[in-house]
Amino acid sequence: MRKLGALLVGLSLLLFLFVPLTQAQIQYEVGKVTYESHSDYTRVFIEVSPETGYVVKDLHHPPRLLVNLYPASLISLSREIKVGDRFVESIRLDQESKGVVRVVLDLNLSNVTSSVDLSSDPSRLLIEIRGPEEDLVAAILKEKDSPIIREEEFPSTAPPPKKEKTIYTIVLDPGHGGKDPGAIGRSTGLKEKEVTLQVAKEVARLLRNEAGIRVYLTRNTDQYLSLDRRTEIANQLGADMFISIHANSGYRRHAKGVETFFNSRYSYGEGAEEVAARENKPLGSENIPDEAKLIIWDLIQNAYRSESNDLAHTVQKELVQTTDGEDRGVKSAGFYVLRGAAMPAILVEIGFLSNASEETMLRKKDFREKIALGIVKGIKRYYQGKL
Ligand SMILES: [Zn+2]
Repeated sequence: MRKLGALLVGLSLLLFLFVPLTQAQIQYEVGKVTYESHSDYTRVFIEVSPETGYVVKDLHHPPRLLVNLYPASLISLSREIKVGDRFVESIRLDQESKGVVRVVLDLNLSNVTSSVDLSSDPSRLLIEIRGPEEDLVAAILKEKDSPIIREEEFPSTAPPPKKEKTIYTIVLDPGHGGKDPGAIGRSTGLKEKEVTLQVAKEVARLLRNEAGIRVYLTRNTDQYLSLDRRTEIANQLGADMFISIHANSGYRRHAKGVETFFNSRYSYGEGAEEVAARENKPLGSENIPDEAKLIIWDLIQNAYRSESNDLAHTVQKELVQTTDGEDRGVKSAGFYVLRGAAMPAILVEIGFLSNASEETMLRKKDFREKIALGIVKGIKRYYQGKL
């Protein structure tokens, strides 16, 4: 009897919550949310009814933008959309009270400027979050901006509340792709673009099991990407780490082993200049940016020089141990694919396609898994104590 009573109370509570919502949603339903991640701003579009108005408020510690929509209603009681780019971490919508939907943008930077506007046909609310005027990264990269445009999975359900924790975003960059095969194996014709994608996917698979890490690939398929687009993606996602994965090729057939690079204006380490020259080739001579831009790109990555150096050493060490490969050391040179990355960034050469036995090894899944494990161990050791 008591159970039935509790059930009835529960049911009437549910009805109490549900009835006003279903009535309101007929007219003022808040629809789909889409968002665009640009280098220098993020744009969020929220479908609203033509009658809906809004009130905006900036909130601090942590930085958020609050927009109340009225009259408005949600089908579900709340929604949360993970954005995870430079400016916006997530978008939360909930039915604050009858007819009022609260939209909260959790921001990743505190010194942003925001603007909110309504457009008709289609009737949408536009929220734009811009970086500070002196945002060096954005100033350089926006010239050839190609945004990442995404749409929420609709209707999305809010994940269960969890403890606040730092999430590290890692962007893995499988070298080459599409029309650019990279190095080609001398004995079996294994293409660098294939083996780098396989290894990157394996690294991503292993990292997805790690709490506190979010991982993205610059490409998931055999697709051509320009060198600067790769770091642009990492910058747009507000990544904490950028790892470009490559396979080596040398004039000497017996050259073998693994080596890890970070960017520097002048080369350091045996053969570093040759590797950089080969890896910079996809840029094409017509696309070389002018000297002024190169200096600024170098400055951006230079701010992370010591972190990149540390990361290169931890990854190189674990990679050598896990694969039992020859240790060619950590070197530095000017790599276009690392310049302009506003985060610690390294380039890993996982083995020589010009060496017949290493090419054979790289064809084997279990060997590629060892390489991936080595990279993962290096990343985890770099973040030691922080994950
Ligand atoms: Zn390469």
